[in-house]
Amino acid sequence: MKVTEHINNAKGKPLFSFEIIPPQKGKNIQELYDNIDPLMEFNPPFIDVTTSREEYIYIEKEGLYDKKITRMRPGTLGICAAIKFKYDVDTIPHVLCGGFTKEETEYLLVDCHYLGINNIMALRGDAMKGEKYFVPTPGGHNYASDLVDQIAKMREGKYLHATQEHGNHPDFCIGVAGYPEKHLEAPSMDTDIKRLKEKIDQGADYVVTQMFFDNQRYFDFVNRARAEGITVPIIPGIKPIAVKRHLQLLPQAFWLDMPQELINAVEQCKNNKEVRQVGVDFAIQQSKELLEFGVPVLHYYSMGKSDNIKKIASALF
Ligand code: FAD
Repeated sequence: MKVTEHINNAKGKPLFSFEIIPPQKGKNIQELYDNIDPLMEFNPPFIDVTTSREEYIYIEKEGLYDKKITRMRPGTLGICAAIKFKYDVDTIPHVLCGGFTKEETEYLLVDCHYLGINNIMALRGDAMKGEKYFVPTPGGHNYASDLVDQIAKMREGKYLHATQEHGNHPDFCIGVAGYPEKHLEAPSMDTDIKRLKEKIDQGADYVVTQMFFDNQRYFDFVNRARAEGITVPIIPGIKPIAVKRHLQLLPQAFWLDMPQELINAVEQCKNNKEVRQVGVDFAIQQSKELLEFGVPVLHYYSMGKSDNIKKIASALF
């Protein structure tokens, strides 16, 4: 079922969902199952599976370094299929512009369609590790809006390089990213919201936000998006703080501000076990306020470990 159908069917009752990351290459899928199992009692209607960009590695060979390209966490679509059929839940592969040609993207989407995966999260992807800017892959898309356009055209039976429309219309529901604190490359919030509107105009059906810790940023973002004519659901993404280093890492990676109250609480912790509990308590309070605002879904970034997400979900659902 589509994300938008899940939301409509819930008739205002908020839903619980989460995002997972594929295991590192060479690791077993069991660890992922062990972290998903405890969350299934909260009936997530869908689970997102991230895609990691390819990266360069250097392998020493007789005193010289051989540069190779690899994907450290491959298998997004395989994991989506495995989870969908094991738990009978909708899974959403994150599909990136970066690292893929348009043709490769089309093949991936065809596979999604065959597997009955009909929700797609369409993203540009970040710059490659060690690179400062996002460089489009030759033959790939520059922006997420171009990727949305490709997926939306497939819905109409328009495939790449085809001389005629095909009868097979994969009815994809398309999600895109939104940034309550502005995307780090956007010159202003207004510009970023206009870019978001372009993704919706190209055919996106819902938005999932980047993590944020100050709910007022999300409320303002939703109000600005609505004023811009964006009417689709805007699902908040929530990340419980888990280690002290998140105080530096998350603002650096995601261009966000943290409330002083949260910073103080984390700084007073004696170890990361205490930090994890602070993260849980804060996320519960944050989620309660978001529920009062009337969000359709609370979507959690699990980063592959679910003990904290389970505590949060137990307090809310
Ligand atoms: P875009 O919408 O293309 O925007 C990128 C930047 O370009 C923005 O600054 C925008 O304002 C600007 N822009 C857009 N269109 C134009 C235009 N026509 N002209 C000029 N500027 C323009 N990354 C991963 O690698 N894997 C994942 O699985 C993943 N999952 C994510 C899930 C969520 C919910 C979110 C919020 C982010 C996720 N990301 C993931 C991160 C994402 O790939 C990065 O934030 C990336 O830098 C931007 O992606 P986007 O889809 O928002 O890009």
